[in-house]
Amino acid sequence: MAKIKHVLSPKLFLTLLLTVAATAAAAAATNGLDSPSSKIRRPWPFKKLNKPVVLMISCDGFRFGYQFKTDTPNIDLLISEGTEAKSGLIPVFPTMTFPNHYSIATGLYPAYHGIIMNSFTDPVTGDKFNKGLDPKWWLGEPLWVTAANQGRKAVTYFWPGSEVPKDSWTCPKEYCPHFNLSVPLHERVDTVLSYFDLPVSEIPDFLMLYFDEPDKEGHDYGPDDPRVTAAVSKVDTMIGRVIEGLKKREIFDEVHIILLGDHGMVTNCDLKTIYIEDLADWIKIPADWIYAYSPVLAINPKWGDDVENPGEKNAEVVAKMNEALSSGKVENGELLQVYLKEKLPERLHYSESSRIAPIIGMVGEGLVVRQNRTGVHECYGDHGYDNKYFSMRSIFVGHGPRFRSGKKVPSFENVQIYNVVAEILGLRPASNNGSSLFTRNILSPFGTTGEVE
Ligand SMILES: [Zn+2]
Repeated sequence: MAKIKHVLSPKLFLTLLLTVAATAAAAAATNGLDSPSSKIRRPWPFKKLNKPVVLMISCDGFRFGYQFKTDTPNIDLLISEGTEAKSGLIPVFPTMTFPNHYSIATGLYPAYHGIIMNSFTDPVTGDKFNKGLDPKWWLGEPLWVTAANQGRKAVTYFWPGSEVPKDSWTCPKEYCPHFNLSVPLHERVDTVLSYFDLPVSEIPDFLMLYFDEPDKEGHDYGPDDPRVTAAVSKVDTMIGRVIEGLKKREIFDEVHIILLGDHGMVTNCDLKTIYIEDLADWIKIPADWIYAYSPVLAINPKWGDDVENPGEKNAEVVAKMNEALSSGKVENGELLQVYLKEKLPERLHYSESSRIAPIIGMVGEGLVVRQNRTGVHECYGDHGYDNKYFSMRSIFVGHGPRFRSGKKVPSFENVQIYNVVAEILGLRPASNNGSSLFTRNILSPFGTTGEVE
């Protein structure tokens, strides 16, 4: 708690405290146990593994609906025998890879875990983050740290943030390979499967596997291109390799597989663009104020030391920009709305961090923002937009002893997943933005899959 305190508002801090208290109370009330470590000692109803194991697989940019593009027999198998988010998994805002993978891992919104975009400049210190591993950026407690802190064995295979040392987690070489996109997907799968050949007492409790597909094809060609369909097929084949490998080891029904993605994908090929220079009659925004254009517009006005109230000046910038955008005289102006970050809709949870620029523009779906009309305008796929857009959703499927077969649950935000994994593994969760009650919606009570109590 102390480690993340400095980025928490008093309100969130209280919420987190209450969440932790409620989690502890719920755990005590439902099973009469007062320590999570005692959960693991309950009888485990399977033969090969003597404990719950979770294998989480992320497919970068797997937009909800891709599973209908082509035959995906292996994903379909997990869905039919498992529990699926009916209309997809809702990413956090901004719907980018690093913020979302780290929200899945920590149960925190980006404002609280610190990775507020894939790359950004801290408006206060001027320090730049670009997917680096300096621990100062990575706040909160990801699952591999929670596991390691509580004496469990975790494996991470290219999961964003997992190479950052934290508490008991040192990213040991044999359990935390260094990020290298040239490692083919099948090799990643085979390495993960090989951990199940260890003596049973050494098998990891928790494994996280990352596939960088089909994101790349989605970016290069847009989500509707046949080459994306081929990438989806390839990912399904890899899931098949996982299933086969576990079946061969006779543990397919014992391992909890969680298959998910970080965000969706949308095309910008109708080339709708807003040019900042078009706002000049109302307000001139210099390029060096703009940290990011789209899909999230981030502006940090550089006022001189003689400006007494920069907050007021920022509010004036927002008012002028919105006046221009709603005037009907700026091309596509109606597709961009600008906010002081503290005035952003609460559902985005994107205010409570000094790393977020003071002014944020919510860019319409598939829209591009540019400074001016120079340069070539290319057509491609992108993500990062408001998480209310259906195109930004990804998938969630849970398969294994604690997931009911053939069950559909309503869509939920990915910050809920941290508690789900903690519950399956019997880990004491760190404070997070998920609800401790959510696990009851998605998991069957421990032990119901076998008459062992
Ligand atoms: Zn991407």
